[in-house]
Amino acid sequence: MPIMSGDDLSYHTNDCPDVDDGMRLTDLPEEITSLEDLECTCWEQYDSLAEV
Ligand SMILES: [Zn+2]
Repeated sequence: MPIMSGDDLSYHTNDCPDVDDGMRLTDLPEEITSLEDLECTCWEQYDSLAEV
């Protein structure tokens, strides 16, 4: 489950160490079309967005 950071509105995974009080999302927004749109290294555990 993704989390949107309250600080800079970036997206993170549920267990990202860099985001603590973000907003939990049920899904990523439509503008995120690939893992390359997600800047944080916490996404590196996934091979593709389909796995998120
Ligand atoms: Zn992160």
